[in-house]
Amino acid sequence: MERVLIVGNGYAGLQAARTLAREKALSVTMVSAEDCPAYVPHLLPELAAGRMEAGDLFLPRGGEAGATEIAFRPGARVKKLFARKRAALLSNDETIAFDKALVATGASPWIPENLEPLLAQCGNVVALKRLSDAIALRNSLDGGARDIVIIGAGRVGMLLAEALKDRGAAVSIVEIGPRILATMLQQDVAERLHPVLEKRRHLRLHTGTRIARFGIDGGKVREVHLADGAALPCDVVVIAAGVAPNTGFMEETLPAAGGLAVDDRMETAAPGIYAAGDVVFFETVTGKKEPGQLVVNARTQGEVAARNIAGHNVACPPMFTGNVVKLDPVIAARIGDIDGTDHADFTVQRDFVRATRNGSTVTGLQMIGDPESLRGLVPAVLKRFRPEDIADLFRGRSDLGLAPLLLSRGYAWA
Ligand SMILES: Cc1cc2nc3c(=O)[nH]c(=O)nc-3n(C[C@H](O)[C@H](O)[C@H](O)COP(=O)(O)OP(=O)(O)OC[C@H]3O[C@@H](n4cnc5c(N)ncnc54)[C@H](O)[C@@H]3O)c2cc1C
Repeated sequence: MERVLIVGNGYAGLQAARTLAREKALSVTMVSAEDCPAYVPHLLPELAAGRMEAGDLFLPRGGEAGATEIAFRPGARVKKLFARKRAALLSNDETIAFDKALVATGASPWIPENLEPLLAQCGNVVALKRLSDAIALRNSLDGGARDIVIIGAGRVGMLLAEALKDRGAAVSIVEIGPRILATMLQQDVAERLHPVLEKRRHLRLHTGTRIARFGIDGGKVREVHLADGAALPCDVVVIAAGVAPNTGFMEETLPAAGGLAVDDRMETAAPGIYAAGDVVFFETVTGKKEPGQLVVNARTQGEVAARNIAGHNVACPPMFTGNVVKLDPVIAARIGDIDGTDHADFTVQRDFVRATRNGSTVTGLQMIGDPESLRGLVPAVLKRFRPEDIADLFRGRSDLGLAPLLLSRGYAWA
């Protein structure tokens, strides 16, 4: 019987396991570094803020009744994967041999070099990516922590600040770049969020400034001193400076700069080794190479990889990358590639959309507005609309067959 190893128990690994369970009899083992069921990462800020419990984030395993049983090994981290030898060495020094493997290890927080010692040595520094990080932050807040300094004004930093708004916390976000959400919104689009953020009395934004030094006492960061002279009181530091794909355990023969490169069947350069989700570097519908970034990508790629592992020949459908951040009552979102040189803007009531175009087709969208009215625009990038089509769609008089999606609650990002 063919032996399959799934490394990682996030959306990509879980979808692969569910798919393989329905296939012909295989011997499938799934290992996860974390000692818990799969969970919803985008709810970690809610867990940290005490608005949800850990159990609310867990995903159902599914697939137990299929032809193939999945042997799940939580708390088993792969420390080395030998692609040619077809073996994985676990953190407990056990070796698992396999015929085919799926690498679905997601990404880890990217820690700037100057902050590495801080994370290692100070008991009140976390990087919000895993369930255990959220629980650690929650415990600090429950223990009386009030002054929270978040390093990075990207998606995770902004989501956490938002989740903490009713927690009695005083949140400072320090961002070295000139603006918030820099990888998803252009400057003038991001500025449209300022009226919303100004209403957040718990939040202070420090953009365009660096950290000069940390005031450390008793193994904890007590103050964060900025280059512009500000001194921020601090009970907890949260590092939210971006992520990097989890590839450090891969045999060196498999290049992994920016993520594992895959073909459209989700197979890496090593035959029989597949990859899916945030760990991959794939070609999007606009021709750009990017990491997975979205739940929908992780699930689709996990399913495609699993079907190919099971012996089918399936290609991944066209996909885009993006980000979404809810800053009540609006969402800010990016879909696709927003680096184009030309754009068209549309505003209807309080909804704003910027369509980036490349020639006559739309390659990306930036959106600020009502979550329900904006979701339906997702297909615009996949179907390579013209800006005029978006104008029609947005004004609700479209005959493109997508108008119902504008009001649909069923169409989900995640
Ligand atoms: C705060 C936040 C908000 C987000 N918001 C959204 C959103 O609104 N919409 C959206 O679509 N996406 C969102 N995302 C991104 C989304 O969560 C990811 O794209 C998705 O979870 C990727 O799934 P994955 O399976 O590739 O990786 P992950 O979910 O990261 O899972 C990877 C798994 O691999 C395990 N692992 C890692 N290394 C090893 C190893 N060496 N050995 C064994 N196991 C290992 C990990 O423990 C983990 O279980 C958000 C993410 C965060 C953190």
